[in-house]
Amino acid sequence: MVIWVTHLLKILSLQQITITMCLSTPTPPKSGQSNGTCCLTPEAMCSNATNNNNNNDNSNNNNNNNNTDQTDTQLKHRSHATDAKQNKTKEQADTDDNLGYKEENAVYKEYADKAHQIAKEAEQQKEEVEEEYHPQIRWPDLGAQTFLHVGALYGAYLLFYAKFYTFLWAAVLIFVSGIGITAGAHRLWSHKSYNASLPLRIVLAFMFSIAGQRDAYTWALDHRIHHKFSETDADPHNVNRGFFFAHVGWLFLTPHPKVIAKRKVIDMSDLEADAVVMFQRKYYIPLFALCSIILPVVVPWYFWQEDLWMSFWINFTMRFTWTLNVAFFVNSVAHMYGNKPYDKNISSVEVPVVSFLAMGEGWHNYHHVFPWDYKTGEFGNYTLNITTGFIDLCARLGLASGRKSVSPDMVKRRAAKCGDGSRFLSDEYAHKNQVWGFGDRDLPCEDIVELAKMQN
Ligand SMILES: [Zn+2]
Ligand SMILES: [Zn+2]
Repeated sequence: MVIWVTHLLKILSLQQITITMCLSTPTPPKSGQSNGTCCLTPEAMCSNATNNNNNNDNSNNNNNNNNTDQTDTQLKHRSHATDAKQNKTKEQADTDDNLGYKEENAVYKEYADKAHQIAKEAEQQKEEVEEEYHPQIRWPDLGAQTFLHVGALYGAYLLFYAKFYTFLWAAVLIFVSGIGITAGAHRLWSHKSYNASLPLRIVLAFMFSIAGQRDAYTWALDHRIHHKFSETDADPHNVNRGFFFAHVGWLFLTPHPKVIAKRKVIDMSDLEADAVVMFQRKYYIPLFALCSIILPVVVPWYFWQEDLWMSFWINFTMRFTWTLNVAFFVNSVAHMYGNKPYDKNISSVEVPVVSFLAMGEGWHNYHHVFPWDYKTGEFGNYTLNITTGFIDLCARLGLASGRKSVSPDMVKRRAAKCGDGSRFLSDEYAHKNQVWGFGDRDLPCEDIVELAKMQN
């Protein structure tokens, strides 16, 4: 009996070793070798092993069943892999045509054809517009500009012979009419960056009329288009057409059809509801004659007996043309030469010298990024932004209210994101609001909304 049990255990032990070896090191059958214990296919090997175990010992059944399950899974995987490979080859054969295009690319091709068609139509439209648009010189305007600029040089020459008060008067007019442009036509009427009481609006309309740069409504209309469609054909003084065009050319050339089209669609309802603006628009010609020519010229003649001829060339022609060119610098220089701390992707730049001359309007990169800021610049330095000082003073006097601005944090964020690095280029800001991935609580809300849409 003992001998029989020992013999049985020996057999079982040998079977176990054989199963383990076979599972761990499956050996492919050699040619001519019979399908014995270890040299079967994995499936057969495991099947044999399981059968053997079942026949010999119930205690080993669980282990062997586990082994069988694992092996079955492996086999299934292999079998699936083989099937998938075969299916893939079949699929590829079905979907590939003889040029190598696939089904999904055919769909793409369909979209690509549509996109190509749209692009072609857009190109045709562009060509049509370009064919139609041949800028023509408006000779009366060119004549006026020539007269003003030549007259300004003559006025500058006469300044050497003029009385000191005449010089002073010209400087005062430049300042007063300048404020009319910057605080009135620009920051108030074009950008609504603050609210002005009726008395202040009347004063600003008067000051702006001294400048003589068309009526406030027309000025604001073109300026809103300039901001809204900057650097496109619809921009009245599109800087992409060169320095000269942006500076003065746009005033004596026929405008691009797109500028005319945009003039009809920009919302001007706020100014149409402003009685002061509409009055100035309605009576612009007499107001221009009175405020821009008669008053500046007659005052020196009447009060300190300046020669009328001299007063005309200094206090109208030279003074007017000076202010005109300073405004032009904002459209030309401040769109070409300088830093772009807040957005490097737009043409407008920061030019301190233009800011000095134009009473704070040279911080043009900032201004195009945040056009609603009544300061039109980041800093509250009145030396290079005297208009801000004027508006602040009016606010103190109760004449202005609702000054809109931008928080320093918003400025820094924008500069760190889009600026050219001339400001806020530091680790502190550059690495602010970085995220580790989806789920980071600092992920911007608009990005989360965008992501949700994409997932849908
Ligand atoms: Zn502006
Ligand atoms: Zn601009």
